[in-house]
Amino acid sequence: SGDPLEEVASLIVRSSCNVALTGAGVSTASGIPDFRGPQGLWRMVDPEKFEISYFHDHPDEVWDLFVEFFLSTFNAKPNPAHYALAELEKLGKLCAVITQNVDMLHQAAGTRNVVELHGSLKDVICLQCGYRYPLSEALRQRTGGAPRCPKCGGVLKPDVVFFGEPLPRDALREAMMLAEMADVFIAAGTSLAVYPANQLPLIAKKRGAKLVVINAEETYYDFAADYVFRGNVEEVLPALVEKVKSMLF
Ligand code: NAD
Repeated sequence: SGDPLEEVASLIVRSSCNVALTGAGVSTASGIPDFRGPQGLWRMVDPEKFEISYFHDHPDEVWDLFVEFFLSTFNAKPNPAHYALAELEKLGKLCAVITQNVDMLHQAAGTRNVVELHGSLKDVICLQCGYRYPLSEALRQRTGGAPRCPKCGGVLKPDVVFFGEPLPRDALREAMMLAEMADVFIAAGTSLAVYPANQLPLIAKKRGAKLVVINAEETYYDFAADYVFRGNVEEVLPALVEKVKSMLF
């Protein structure tokens, strides 16, 4: 047909397993800044402060930064990009969303199968005794600096993956499996700069998937993609899902 969006829609309709990998770019329209975009966090705060070794040495400072920058996340609502992916799943045309985001907005939009590669803002975890409890409660009790474990007094850490930390093993295993199964693999709103999440599109491609990149700026793996859409995910994803629907019904 010559219309790339139409071609991708038709691939999605004909395939049995479509998988999406999302990054911070799917949540910028919800008011949460990304890391590397033009308004990104890394223009305001040194990424080294989110390395796990820095957290161990300066938990109070990192908690203050964390609360300042991630507070916007707590009142955020899903945007049309999240809703489009939820609808694609409801249509039976999306196996899973693998996300690097920690904001839980895919679940809020109604997606059932979400694989969280970098943890989430749901819980905190005690570095000393492993006790896990809700971040909202830790924030309520916190008076500044790092909140302490109610069981043992140890330092609590948000249950998100810091730089230098391994990814949650089950989530990574499931993401790899999904990448290997995918007929169409869509990377949306991610710069594909962060390892190992950025290997998933390549794994999918090697296993024969068509690779689709949707991102406002160039990504690290545009060169490997079969289709690149340079635009806003909150526009491109709903347009894509509309096309899929028109082909299904
Ligand atoms: P990133 O900042 O490296 O990349 C985001 C990309 O999205 C950028 O290339 C940017 O140009 C693009 N983008 C921004 N707004 C867009 C839009 N509306 N439409 C299309 N593209 C848009 O983020 P990343 O690739 O996710 O990786 C960095 C890390 O950031 C991840 O580990 C993630 O855990 C973390 N993070 C998460 C959140 C969140 O949970 N919402 C927010 C910031 C960072």
